[in-house]
Amino acid sequence: MKPDDKHPSDFPAGPAGRELIARAAALAKHSDSPDHYTRTWLTPAHRAAGKQVAAWMHEAGLSVRTDGAGSIIGRYEGATPGAKAIVTGSHFDSVRNGGKYDGVLGILVPVACVAELHRRDERLPFAVEVVAFADEEGARFQTSFLASRAFLGQFDEALRERSDAEGVGFDDAMRAAGLDPEDIAEDPRDRATIAAYVEIHIEQGPVLLDAGLPLGVVTAIAGGTRQRVQVTGVAGHAGTVPMAMRHDALAAAAEMVAAVETRAKKVPGLVGTVGLLEVKDGTGNVIPGEVEFTVDIRSVDDAVREAAERDVFAAFDEIAKRRGVTVAARKSHAVRATACDERIQELLAESVAAVGAAVHRLPSGAGHDAMVLAEAATVGMLFVRCGAGGVSHNPAETVDEADAGLAAAALFEFLRRFQ
Ligand SMILES: [Zn+2]
Repeated sequence: MKPDDKHPSDFPAGPAGRELIARAAALAKHSDSPDHYTRTWLTPAHRAAGKQVAAWMHEAGLSVRTDGAGSIIGRYEGATPGAKAIVTGSHFDSVRNGGKYDGVLGILVPVACVAELHRRDERLPFAVEVVAFADEEGARFQTSFLASRAFLGQFDEALRERSDAEGVGFDDAMRAAGLDPEDIAEDPRDRATIAAYVEIHIEQGPVLLDAGLPLGVVTAIAGGTRQRVQVTGVAGHAGTVPMAMRHDALAAAAEMVAAVETRAKKVPGLVGTVGLLEVKDGTGNVIPGEVEFTVDIRSVDDAVREAAERDVFAAFDEIAKRRGVTVAARKSHAVRATACDERIQELLAESVAAVGAAVHRLPSGAGHDAMVLAEAATVGMLFVRCGAGGVSHNPAETVDEADAGLAAAALFEFLRRFQ
């Protein structure tokens, strides 16, 4: 029976929340470093975490397999074997010195939902597949969405030339994990068998925390570009070159950084960040001759983002010309915005209301596996409130036990509503 006002959700959110937090803590013990939580693709800690996830999936009644990229895929058949599947999941790798809920919560929550279906011996009109993507952050080989792309049969062969920070090659890392680099994307998921993709993820921001709300329905995932900008001026003696005769690359870059911030502030929802800035051969008594910095611009509206990029680079050109320096940029990353499916948003909103939480809709500024899956299926996302000011990609990242339980209850209601 689907819950309504008279029959609220009967999902055991309290115990589920406790178990989710305990499992996230247990999984965080599988770290590449004894000092902090870092889990990168196919390291011994990553493989041990994958084994633990597979064991929990098995216990929840899912049949489990591993794909060519090391992702763990669990399937709970529907009433009719071989039916289309709602695919749900997230990633179990992390950034360096990250937080233990990023990605992991989106694997543990659906496993808890399937465990409850299994306990009730309940089958849905479709299968439920939980995918623990092996690599989303790409910290080891500087990749992005490696596992979700491989899940759809996409792989960039050039990645096989890469080595990690310890000099271990891509192919060797795969072979050491018992995987064959030739097979990484050899078994693409048949898109016709995916009914929808839904991802639970921590918000990784302060919006829900600020609004006092446990859950949020995601409307769209921001697209973004990252560029590496090089400013070249003339290095010189800090004592002898008069101010009017300088071509200081860092002073020019400083104006450019401010131009990014000023332009991004003009449109609500548009964000622009310079997260890295390096002075080449910089030292205290030399006028900076060469500076490199990154520009990251994001928006859920591609036209808004593209207009901001044009303006920012026009401002860079103006600043460079005025200061007698040169500026060049190279795009290192670009991804278009992804809209979340209206019908899925509606069902998620109904499900959030069914578990007694207020419905709030918000865009995602961070990228997620759902962006890749959107190429193959309609997608939706449900955000869970972060504590500690909303920080993520940080060891202080935290999620409330009650919120985790509520997320599981909401996904449970969603699965039972989906047709
Ligand atoms: Zn994530």
